Amino acid sequence: MERILDNDGLSRLGSMIDNAGKVFVCSHVSPDGDAIGSALSLKHILARRGKSVSVAVPNIFPDFLQWMPGARDILIYAKNRDDVEKAAKEADLIIVADLNDPARMTEMAGCVVESTAPKVMIDHHLNPVDFCDLVISQPSMCATAEVLCHLYHQFGLLGQLTVDEATCLYVAMMCDTGAFTYNSNRPVVYECISRLLERGIDKDAIYRKVFWTWSVARLRLTGYMLYVKLETLRDCHAAILSLTNAERKRFGIKNGDTEGLVNMPLQLSGVNMSVFLSEDTEHEGVVKVSLRSVGSVRCDRIANEYFNGGGHMNASGGRLYCSMDEALEFTRQTLRKNSAMLKMSNT
Ligand code: 5GP
Ligand code: MN
Repeated sequence: MERILDNDGLSRLGSMIDNAGKVFVCSHVSPDGDAIGSALSLKHILARRGKSVSVAVPNIFPDFLQWMPGARDILIYAKNRDDVEKAAKEADLIIVADLNDPARMTEMAGCVVESTAPKVMIDHHLNPVDFCDLVISQPSMCATAEVLCHLYHQFGLLGQLTVDEATCLYVAMMCDTGAFTYNSNRPVVYECISRLLERGIDKDAIYRKVFWTWSVARLRLTGYMLYVKLETLRDCHAAILSLTNAERKRFGIKNGDTEGLVNMPLQLSGVNMSVFLSEDTEHEGVVKVSLRSVGSVRCDRIANEYFNGGGHMNASGGRLYCSMDEALEFTRQTLRKNSAMLKMSNT
């Protein structure tokens, strides 16, 4: 296991936790498995140490994560602003997990940033923004949950995790690595998993609960997206998928049903980047952009330079402020402009 904090950092974090009665744990908008799993593992562990813990996220998270231990108690800012603002204000300690920038909390950011409670960031995204008192940022790690595994180890807690706590961490690492198919070459990732298995998790059952609980609507949407909507730009080694709100309605799409679609074009031989454009369900004139790339092709640079976003080397996101037709044309042009770079994957 890796040593993330030196003795100084460890005792600083330890005393921040010791001095807190009420802890507020929060994460990013459109929470994914790592956001929810990391936050919930913190909730359970801190609750066992006698803390009163609230977990809050800006908006709803997918159905396939609702079974996770403690998920039902997560506060959703979009549904319950008052409770979230009260919890952030009253907290003695705020932990932001899987989040490097307050902007990624959208409207919820205000109450977190304005709270006078000391703040700790635990994260693995590049370029953390300076808004916390203690920043634990490990961009080489596969998930925030991996950072937590090493931290728990440093605190001597890894061997004492409950099955629920270990399950939350496993879900998080599994989700951020596509079930260990990308961003998971470091051997220590499997040491973490080994430790979680020792705590009694059932990884096969977890896989099914997260990845194989599709609705008919989701399966049919996938077929439609691949048969009708897939656009390949062979010369650019790239592919585009797009989804409008009218199509969401037509297929009865729920939150989470589009999860993983962006990865599918990467199954094509010679395709090194996939872009998924989807009309924002809440804001008209906004198109959300998801990008995935292979090997040394960096989609974070494309996300940053062209799509008002950023993210990881091989998994990034952003948004465009225009119609879907305009977004599609802009994306094609962007990919053509960068075709030389898109060719050069080392895999
Ligand atoms: P997704 O495609 O799943 O929405 O996002 C993929 C990854 O890109 C996530 O890990 C997320 O953290 C990151 N990401 C998405 N949108 C943004 C953005 O606007 N800015 C930055 N910096 N990262 C983003
Ligand atoms: Mn993550």
